[in-house]
Amino acid sequence: MSRGLSPTGELDIVLPAGRFERFADGTMRTTLADGSEVMAVAGASATDVARAECLGYDGDTDRMSLDHELVHLLLANWLGLPEPPTYRGIVEAKTGGTWWSGWRKEEAAVLAIQALAREVGVDIVALAKRATEKGTA
Ligand SMILES: [Zn+2]
Repeated sequence: MSRGLSPTGELDIVLPAGRFERFADGTMRTTLADGSEVMAVAGASATDVARAECLGYDGDTDRMSLDHELVHLLLANWLGLPEPPTYRGIVEAKTGGTWWSGWRKEEAAVLAIQALAREVGVDIVALAKRATEKGTA
C-alpha cells in the first residue's frame, strides 16, 4: 500500500480544476466541471516499468500513475486553468474532435514535476490532499 492512501487504496481529491477519484480496484477517474470523465489505469508494460524507474518510483507504476493524474490537476490549478487542457482534448477526441495540440508540452511538464517531486521527497498525494482540504492548490 502506498503512503497517503486508505487501506483499500481509495482516494477522493477535489480541486478547482476537477475531481479525482481512485477506486479500490486501482481505476482512476477525473471528472471535469461539465461532468466529462477521463478514466485511467496504471500500465504494467516494460515501458511503464522503465518510466517508473526513470522518474524515481523504483518501478512502482501504480504510484507513478496515481501521481501523474494528480499532477495534471495540480498543474492546471497552479496555472489558473479551469481544467487540464490535455484532458479536455481527450474528451473532445472521444466525440470526434481532435487532441489538443499542446498535449506534449503538458505531458512533459507533468513528468518533469513528478521526477522533481520524487527527487526532493515531495509526496504528491499528500500535496493534493492538503489542497483538497484548503479548497485550492
Ligand atoms: Zn498525462
